[in-house]
Amino acid sequence: MKRAYKYRFYPTPEQAEELARTFGCVRLVYNKALEERTRAYSTEGRRVSYMESSAALTAWKRTGELGFLNEVSSVPLQQALRHLQAAFANFFAKRAKYPTFKSKRKSRASAEYTRSAFRWRDGQVTLAKMDAPLDIVWSRPLPEGAEPSTVTVSKDAAGRWFVSLLVEETIRPLDPTGGTVGVDAGITSLVTLSTGEKVANPRHERADRRVLAKAQRNLARKAKGSSNRAKARAKVARVYARITDRRRDFLHKLSTRLVRENQTVVIEDLTVRNMVRNHSLARAISDVSWRELRGMLEYKAAWYGREVIAIDRWFPSSKLCSACGTMHDAMPLNVRSWECVCGAVHDRDVNAARNILAAGLAER
Ligand SMILES: [Zn+2]
Repeated sequence: MKRAYKYRFYPTPEQAEELARTFGCVRLVYNKALEERTRAYSTEGRRVSYMESSAALTAWKRTGELGFLNEVSSVPLQQALRHLQAAFANFFAKRAKYPTFKSKRKSRASAEYTRSAFRWRDGQVTLAKMDAPLDIVWSRPLPEGAEPSTVTVSKDAAGRWFVSLLVEETIRPLDPTGGTVGVDAGITSLVTLSTGEKVANPRHERADRRVLAKAQRNLARKAKGSSNRAKARAKVARVYARITDRRRDFLHKLSTRLVRENQTVVIEDLTVRNMVRNHSLARAISDVSWRELRGMLEYKAAWYGREVIAIDRWFPSSKLCSACGTMHDAMPLNVRSWECVCGAVHDRDVNAARNILAAGLAER
């Protein structure tokens, strides 16, 4: 199975310049090919193939106007066309929305190098058009003897450089266990488990969020185009990056633990949870986290021979008594605990997690 290992690295000024130029060319090629595909689709109802886009790229490189595309490695440009192809395939299969243009400011800058466009020697990566290997911070080792098949370089909004190495790896399944758990997604606590355990949001996050809100207000006050605005934007990006890094680290630990301890993990399918309209920052972050946690649970379960069941999002998990099965009327969000006619006293979230577990096991 393929697994990506991501590290920070520190480019030399020359490497940074080469990569910035490559990112610009990748974005341009992607946007131009998207424009042509859109024109063909909207005026002639025609689907442009990858081969056609690739031929167009060759033609662009021959023009004086776009001749600079020859100055960067051709592989990331080809990969951009492959990604666009995949985006269209997903759109036509109704799995995704229509592809959108990459913007310099809003899209994450990245370039993908396949095997022919980098050298892997003595545990070092040297990209095409570069003389020196990347100065990678090996925060964890690659698996013994692993050889990357694809190298993706990116730069985030906070100005940090990352390299992601895709390697082939064999993972041994864990020994089976009898454990099962239901997981309820929350806002005040990150998740509540059917065991009664509440997993709080990562430490420092409340403070970080206050700093973020302040940085955002500060940004909103700065004049468009001013250098103070650029500084304020960089500050927002740095704080946001810190929050998401800490969260991701936390979610990795939580998902690994849930998958290790349980044979079956039941979650709610919240893909289109618009029932509660709440545009707060806390809500937005908790939605992103939930998607991320679900993704981690699913791939780790596949690695280790475990099972993740996602139950219907309309399941009335908080209105149902998990002790006697009585269905209650509306259960407003401010009701944190309640007593059922059967005498059971429920914590709202623990009750929901127990119902989620029962529904998942019934569905199996
Ligand atoms: Zn009851």
